[in-house]
Amino acid sequence: MLEAPSGQTRKGRLFVLGGPSGVGKGTLRVQALADIDGLNYSISCTTRKPRAGERHDVDYHFITHEDFEDKAARGLFLEYATVHKDRYGTLREDVVRELDAGRDVLLEIDVQGAWQVRKLLPESVLIFIAPPSLEALEERLRLRGTESEDKIKLRLENAKKEMEQSSGYDHVIVNDVLDRASKELRKLILSERSPSP
Ligand code: 5GP
Repeated sequence: MLEAPSGQTRKGRLFVLGGPSGVGKGTLRVQALADIDGLNYSISCTTRKPRAGERHDVDYHFITHEDFEDKAARGLFLEYATVHKDRYGTLREDVVRELDAGRDVLLEIDVQGAWQVRKLLPESVLIFIAPPSLEALEERLRLRGTESEDKIKLRLENAKKEMEQSSGYDHVIVNDVLDRASKELRKLILSERSPSP
């Protein structure tokens, strides 16, 4: 069920954070959640293997391909996509429950997911985090050291495609200096969020 009760619009507002891998959107997301009271993060499901330090049900719900396809077939995802050869999806129920209770929700998902959300919930706010340049992004991905060379190449190819679609987002924030970008994101969310319940 995506219709709001009694034909009204949902009370909470949905913020969708997007941008290429390595751009720092994970860090910006963590800072936004720490800085903004009452902003809730929806933990995604993924078939990707956990990286060192990542925790099940905290960073992601790490699930099997079988479980993922089962959830998809049962319509449990608000949106889902294949990203860098793995499956990622947002659980519908988690988001709807929070929005209906008047709480704002933040998603960190790829462009394919962002377009699905836009269709289902047109009032959502789409924010694209862009790198200062593709060269800067490549350097960051290598410095992060979490991916193999093959995966870095794949992520860079996808980054180019994602950048081309940034104009479909409502806002673009360039992550040139983390602290500056973080403040811009906070200001943006505070100005767009729904009034307190
Ligand atoms: P990572 O593997 O680096 O954590 O994430 C890879 C990409 O998948 C990122 O662009 C991230 O935003 C995206 N992603 C994470 N969760 C979801 C999700 O639930 N749905 C979609 N469509 N993309 C996701």
